[in-house]
Amino acid sequence: MSRFFSEKYAALTPYVPGEQPRDMQYLKLNTNESPYPPIPAVVEAAREEATRANLYSDPTAFALRQALAARYDVSPDEVIAVNGSDEALNFAFMAFCDAAHPAVFPDITYGFYPVFARLCGVPYEEIPLREDFTLDPEEYIRRPGKTVFLANPNAPTGIFLPLAQVERIVRADPDRVIIVDEAYVDFGGESAIKLIPQYPNLLVVRTYSKSRSLAGARLGFAVGQASLIADLETIRYSTNPYNVNRMTLAMGAASLAHDDVNRQRCRTVAEVRDRTAAEMRSLGFDVTDSSANFLFARHPAVDGESLYRKLRQRGILVRHFTLPRIRDYNRITVGTAEQMKTFTAAVREILEEST
Ligand SMILES: *Cc1c(COP(=O)(O)O)cnc(C)c1O
Repeated sequence: MSRFFSEKYAALTPYVPGEQPRDMQYLKLNTNESPYPPIPAVVEAAREEATRANLYSDPTAFALRQALAARYDVSPDEVIAVNGSDEALNFAFMAFCDAAHPAVFPDITYGFYPVFARLCGVPYEEIPLREDFTLDPEEYIRRPGKTVFLANPNAPTGIFLPLAQVERIVRADPDRVIIVDEAYVDFGGESAIKLIPQYPNLLVVRTYSKSRSLAGARLGFAVGQASLIADLETIRYSTNPYNVNRMTLAMGAASLAHDDVNRQRCRTVAEVRDRTAAEMRSLGFDVTDSSANFLFARHPAVDGESLYRKLRQRGILVRHFTLPRIRDYNRITVGTAEQMKTFTAAVREILEEST
């Protein structure tokens, strides 16, 4: 830290992204990216748009918002486009949390939430999930006035909270905002977007990173009633009005035109996930019931960190967390059927060595 760094941020511990090593070619099952390259027509749209990169992107992202509105049956003023859904989450912490509206989220969830809360200088409370990592809605219902952040399906557990339970939390207190982060919903959950017409206090955050094969393009969006979206627009125009670049805006719209391909890919990933989970259970793993594009698992005979290291030695990267409650576990991104065969073969070898 330099002596110039603002004291506001001196105590900040930044978010640590999953590793992107360059020392060798790994089988990357650690950052929940899509195993499929972007759709060719989507790449072509970016190439085309790059010829106009001397001009600023549309600060209203109108064409993309219109396409998203049509896709999700809302109106364009109910959609905001962002530079990755992390930006929408940051904006939501800025817009909807303060001393009177502290943030609340589970103890086991997306690791960026506490970082955003500290960055924004807002108080926050982490509510323990049940022993089996399911969420008890009563915990949130009995904390009125607090701004709720829920990843659904949750990360890194993959567990989906049924929409009726989400709705109970939203309905319990109309005077606070509920942010539902649906980064993984296309792999098995049910979206809360359909509840938006009834609830002015519901914001749904989505991303192209996982289910549309565009993590590197940095594109996300949020959907909510027009007044909530207007607040996020105030923050966006106060930080970076050209937050989404031209090529990415074009890719986002082109991807929606081929959303049948994205949906088929998600179905395939979900099938491979379920087959891999069954195989891991037969090898003795405890595997949570995942609705996402990853599995969360532990084995009684190998601790989480050893399994992570032994896989890494074999050229396979998974994500290990050091948080005490989950340090026995690893999070394994679901790749293609062939990649998962490589993964389970390596796991079998490791288990034979250790037992
Ligand atoms: C990956 C992820 C995000 C961030 O996605 P980007 O759109 O790439 O910024 C947000 N929330 C959760 C729970 C995620 O896993």
